[in-house]
Amino acid sequence: MYNLTATYPLNPSKMKERLDRVLELARNLSTIQESEPYVQSLLSAAVELTESETASILNYDAEIQELRFAAVPWYHRDALKLVGVPVEGSAAGWVIQEKLPLVIADVSHDSRHFVAADRISDFHTRSILAVPLFYKGKVIGVFEALNKTGGGEYTDDDVVIMETLASLAVAATQNELLERRIQTSYEEVAELDRLKSDFIAITSHELRTPLGLILGHATFLREVLGEAHYEQLDSIIRNATKLKDIVENLSNVDNYQSGVARLRQNRISVSQVIQDVATAFQEIAAEKAIDLKVNTGSNDLLMEGDGTKIGIALSNLIKNALTFTNNGGQVHVTAEAVPGYVKVSVMDNGVGIPSSDLPRVFERFFQVESHLTRRHGGMGLGLAVAKAMIEMHSGRIWAESVEGKGSNFTFLLPLDVPQSTAVSP
Ligand code: ADP
Repeated sequence: MYNLTATYPLNPSKMKERLDRVLELARNLSTIQESEPYVQSLLSAAVELTESETASILNYDAEIQELRFAAVPWYHRDALKLVGVPVEGSAAGWVIQEKLPLVIADVSHDSRHFVAADRISDFHTRSILAVPLFYKGKVIGVFEALNKTGGGEYTDDDVVIMETLASLAVAATQNELLERRIQTSYEEVAELDRLKSDFIAITSHELRTPLGLILGHATFLREVLGEAHYEQLDSIIRNATKLKDIVENLSNVDNYQSGVARLRQNRISVSQVIQDVATAFQEIAAEKAIDLKVNTGSNDLLMEGDGTKIGIALSNLIKNALTFTNNGGQVHVTAEAVPGYVKVSVMDNGVGIPSSDLPRVFERFFQVESHLTRRHGGMGLGLAVAKAMIEMHSGRIWAESVEGKGSNFTFLLPLDVPQSTAVSP
């Protein structure tokens, strides 16, 4: 296997001492904050346990096919920091290529010793024990111990100790590398999220003003010009309103996600909110001959909440129910008090949602039909907005549906809203 020249069995007490030390290092692995001091303690352990003069770790850079000193005793750090060790003509290079441990009892007779490092660090290497650093089956570096003291030679036990310490070194450094990568990815995602929020905030702001003007002037013209121009002006108003809804949905969902959204709490009647929203949709329902019914019982269903936001959630549910129900169908909105909550349901006997899509309908931009083939407008934001509005009240929303039979969207609003989520303006 490797060029081992000596095997001296250790006495049992010495063996136990070595094992205890390695075990302690292995135990410490899970508690370390930074890898550098830990790797330094591995170097010290390598020196002591293999009875060497010094130890070092070299990382292999596959791109430039060279090794670099990654960890050396502090007194060699400055000298060796910039030294590149070639793969050919070095003991470390041999280990990288062969993926095996290497013992050189006397470097003066071995061409694999890289003398330049000795010259630069003012050190005189006599013997070398080098083991590969394996990570996911690849050799990523080499752990070396130099100059067995007391005139002896490196043994099988020394190799095993070095291999164990090497795997601890890999675990420590690769963990840190992964943590750093995760941190960088988090930061990149946070930055992208910030850019997206800025983009949505700026775009919604810039679109809101011209859209308001288009709607205002179109409504004015509709009144002034009279019936002859109703068709064109109604089309302008309808489409501008659609655009306004999209802008509002985008900014609503983003405000919620970025934590900017706030509740404007008042004592409200959920029954009244439902009646108002349903009334606003009666015309659209009538156009499709859909029976839009409301049943809130005789109770006012009073609670502390933001009527506008609950209204937005309900509007989106009723709008969907009307959109995805065929002409002549039925949409029922019900509300009742259940212990601790107000429970509101919007039921339809429309097209329904396939069970495989049901868990995803509240995701942003999710639509059951592909956007290329879909017959209905919308951006897949209505339910995400509804969910945001309900969750801001510490409520819960869910959907049940049977494809081809209809859907039932239900939300619960707690009667006592915890202060942490209910921020007054
Ligand atoms: P959009 O505004 O594009 O409709 P939503 O977030 O409101 O987006 O809804 C997401 C998708 O969920 C819709 O595209 C539709 O496929 C499905 N969906 C929502 N409500 C219903 C419903 N009542 N019946 C059938 N499908 C629905």
